[in-house]
Amino acid sequence: MFLGVKAEVKIMVTILIDEEWCRGCYLCVHFCAKKVLSRSRRRNPKGYTLPELTALEKCTGCESCEFICPELAITVEKEGQE
Ligand code: SF4
Ligand code: SF4
Repeated sequence: MFLGVKAEVKIMVTILIDEEWCRGCYLCVHFCAKKVLSRSRRRNPKGYTLPELTALEKCTGCESCEFICPELAITVEKEGQE
């Protein structure tokens, strides 16, 4: 027999985008299931248009954006909170 205890755990997520490394492919925008990231009009010094965080409150910290970015420009930092 198993006994379970249910607990709500909240996490704080920080999404770091290294704008110098970004090449504007927008894979991060397409692969974020929660639509946290959007296209922006801002460009980096190389001329690539950048993504921006428009709904960070919806982020689950799934790290898909970090894994999918071919330029390793995204880092997802998570901090647990009870
Ligand atoms: S996946 Fe990486 S390189 Fe592509 S737009 Fe997003 S941050 Fe930039
Ligand atoms: S960690 Fe997941 S939910 Fe958060 S921005 Fe990245 S892909 Fe979207």
